[in-house]
Amino acid sequence: MKEIICIVCPNGCHLITDGADRIEGYKCERGLDYAKAEMTNPTRVLTSTIRVVGGIHRRCSVKTDRPISKVLLMEAMERVNSLEVAAPVECGHVLIKNIMGTEANLVTTREVAGI
Ligand code: SF4
Repeated sequence: MKEIICIVCPNGCHLITDGADRIEGYKCERGLDYAKAEMTNPTRVLTSTIRVVGGIHRRCSVKTDRPISKVLLMEAMERVNSLEVAAPVECGHVLIKNIMGTEANLVTTREVAGI
């Protein structure tokens, strides 16, 4: 038996699975879907920061606009770490479309005004 903590909502239900079709402990269908995804293709939203040139802040927070496969996270992070953007930066600006072929876009999550 394996325990999975559901991260879909703040309840954090403890789900128990035998790794096959038996899943217990979820309080809603979203938890059941999460457990199934965790056993087949776990995904996460990538969050990070990138360098800003000429801004009032030196870094800008970024994230993918949808979860991507966990197996692609490290390679995607390498791409994100190489990014640099010039101020001013708008919130929601798409930096990379379809990152790693995942259909997710990497977007900024804050504004950074220029100096
Ligand atoms: S199973 Fe449902 S209620 Fe429980 S943490 Fe997941 S989403 Fe929330």
